[in-house]
Amino acid sequence: MAEKQYQVLARKWRPQQFDDVVGQDHITRTLRNAIASGRIHHAFLFIGSRGIGKTTTARILAKALNCLSYETPTVTPCGTCENCRSISEGSNIDVIEIDGASNNGVDDVRDIRDHIRMVPTSGRYKIYIIDEVHQLSSGAFNALLKTLEEPPSHAIFILATTEAHKIPATIISRCQRYDFRRVPARQLMGLLRKVLDQEGRHASDEALYAIARAAEGGVRDAESILDELITYCEGEIACQDVFDVLGLVDWHLLHNLCDAILDKDVGRMLVIVEEVVAAGKDLSQFVQEILRYFRNLLVSKTVQDADLIHLPEEELEEVRGRARRFTLTGLIRLVEQFAELTSGFDSQIAQRIALEALLIRISKAGVEISVDTVLEKILTLEQGGTVAPPISAQEERPSKPPDPPRAGPANRARAAPAGPARIVSDTPRAAANPESSLYYPTVNPEDARTVMQDPGVAELLEAFKGRIADIRRSTATTGNVESK
Ligand SMILES: [Zn+2]
Repeated sequence: MAEKQYQVLARKWRPQQFDDVVGQDHITRTLRNAIASGRIHHAFLFIGSRGIGKTTTARILAKALNCLSYETPTVTPCGTCENCRSISEGSNIDVIEIDGASNNGVDDVRDIRDHIRMVPTSGRYKIYIIDEVHQLSSGAFNALLKTLEEPPSHAIFILATTEAHKIPATIISRCQRYDFRRVPARQLMGLLRKVLDQEGRHASDEALYAIARAAEGGVRDAESILDELITYCEGEIACQDVFDVLGLVDWHLLHNLCDAILDKDVGRMLVIVEEVVAAGKDLSQFVQEILRYFRNLLVSKTVQDADLIHLPEEELEEVRGRARRFTLTGLIRLVEQFAELTSGFDSQIAQRIALEALLIRISKAGVEISVDTVLEKILTLEQGGTVAPPISAQEERPSKPPDPPRAGPANRARAAPAGPARIVSDTPRAAANPESSLYYPTVNPEDARTVMQDPGVAELLEAFKGRIADIRRSTATTGNVESK
């Protein structure tokens, strides 16, 4: 008797019908309509992140077109005929699956062109599924384009990619485009629940939510996490099991940490760190989770596009709410500081987030400079004098003979440390860290005076007056950048 072979869940529960594909209703409906009405395009382009059902849908489409149980293409392939079975296994002679990453040369595509003329052996169509199609060389794309321009009537192409922007427009315009979406948490949870029922296992709702959240909308990831948990747990799968298996920190802890930072509650912050350490979590991963957390806050404060934050809808609101309580510069500083803390970790995520923060900072540079300028202006007005030049500017002129003892800006800075010194002390970071001069440019005193005399700045000052305290607070919250 043949032993039942162990199959990973993702393969075992791979959808066999359009109805079984989770979270892509907009795509399966269109495909079904096309098949039912007999208007079948000869080239499809499936776009979407990895593990969300592109290849699965391509195979179902192939079965729908070539199922032997029907006279014509069907929206409900039988799943049992020779063609349906071999297509599911990836061994059908008329359905050719090509990995674009490893078969990306001109010759590979010419091979297709040579074979495509031959009529299909057992099905109605010869179907080419080219995965990772964006990896084709430009020569290969040209060859493919020629094929797409004059395909034999029995040929169908299904091109799949995670990176549509790398595909030439000439190819895209020849294809019917289908954009696959990340699957919402609730739908992923439903799918996992179904799989568990069939496996005779149980999990708490919170555990399923944690899996769906970690999978970031990917069906394959969600299933493979569940697979691991089924092996890991003996009885019911609990939320804590998910955190343990994935090495993740409970996200409530991250919300708590965020609130502690907002409340400047150092005691609570340290207790949280203690909890993480006591739970045996990897601190470097914890810092990366913090970084990712504040990155989400920063992004949600900057753009409306929810797709950039891979969190379930329920949690997005929580993130937006907290983001509103920070100032933009406060969040940028937080992200940059945590990114710096992880810079030794050599992680892709830290690099990406640091880059995003930098870009946001650059795009909002005007805001920050204005704020600095306003602070300077206020203190200057308080003293009824001119603007103090930054220390760095003074230090850059050591060879110059000392200024005569009049109320020059440099002297004022030295003579009245209680006043402008606070502002002047902001600027050494520009001198100490050459990179930061991007955001805190060393200001020529002459230029500064010109800026101060600008009526626009005075107007800005009025507008910003109420915000100053807020900005000061957020700087204090994010730690003293200046003292570095
Ligand atoms: Zn069939």
